[in-house]
Amino acid sequence: MGYAKSLLTAAGTVKIVSDDMPEAIEADHVRLRLATASICGTDMHYFRHFANAGFQLDYPVSLGHEACALVEDPNGSALERGQLVAINPVIACGTCEHCLSGDINMCPTKRFPGSATTVPHIDGFFRDYFDFPAKCLRPVRDGVDPDHLTFAEPLACAMHSINRAGVGAGSKVLVVGCGPMGLLATVGAVSKGAEVHVSDLKQGAIDAARAVGATEGFVINRDDMSKLSGQYDVVVEASGSPHGYNQALDSVRKQGVVAVLSLIQPSEVPINLHINTLKEINSIGSVLFTGEFEEAVSLIESGTVDFDALIAGQFSVCETQVACEFMASGDAVGKVLIKPAA
Ligand SMILES: [Zn+2]
Ligand SMILES: [Zn+2]
Repeated sequence: MGYAKSLLTAAGTVKIVSDDMPEAIEADHVRLRLATASICGTDMHYFRHFANAGFQLDYPVSLGHEACALVEDPNGSALERGQLVAINPVIACGTCEHCLSGDINMCPTKRFPGSATTVPHIDGFFRDYFDFPAKCLRPVRDGVDPDHLTFAEPLACAMHSINRAGVGAGSKVLVVGCGPMGLLATVGAVSKGAEVHVSDLKQGAIDAARAVGATEGFVINRDDMSKLSGQYDVVVEASGSPHGYNQALDSVRKQGVVAVLSLIQPSEVPINLHINTLKEINSIGSVLFTGEFEEAVSLIESGTVDFDALIAGQFSVCETQVACEFMASGDAVGKVLIKPAA
């Protein structure tokens, strides 16, 4: 069975190849047909550098770990052909102490598609067909829009940060940076009953945050940010910038929580760590998710979130190069989606 597959062959270069699915499906795996995938910031690091956070790709891979798919061949699982499933891309070992306590994100031997951290690399989801472990697939109720369901994985990551920060009903939350992760952190915090304010360099990104429940937005370099000083129980850093982290340290109240959802890259910009001490701030990190994948899928199934407001554009698998360039341009507000080629 021939199908279209995108391959990142070098920094900035995606090639489209025709590949064949193997005749036999591996045990405990299901054959899937892509419904909708979406581009993550991690994919963009690989697209720009052929590496992410110091992990270099050894050879070309298909990017993409955010997707939902239709069951092509259940291969003996309880799923039905044609069923729409959310995909949890974390293939955890299931037997280590972390897996047994539910912390699959801490599993030392977990595998992840489209990533240099997994050796040998596993191809990601920017291709028309792929096989994936049945245990990672979550069937959803009829009528769920695949273009919304592809948000399950990034929403789970954002929810994990929100949960670790202890956001609840009535919490005053500031989200710094309204890229896709900041927008999904807004969705997550609003779903918990928090009052959410946001900041970003672009008015358009703030408008998107307002569409999913933020009640106030501040444009950096236009609005007076000093008035936010000490105003928030929780500040979610989603900009990836040391300036954003400094804004978070300033905006959080004494003994509040700064939740670092982004991966702040090393830079020359000083971080005001003394404020961390003086205000007794709890600064917490988060990576991937644990039980939040189920929480995210349930929220998407509920149909209460306007994910359409968070979609920046749609491209086919064959246009993965253009889609990544659009995402890299900085003009996209929200998520860029990848659809099957055929
Ligand atoms: Zn992602
Ligand atoms: Zn494990």
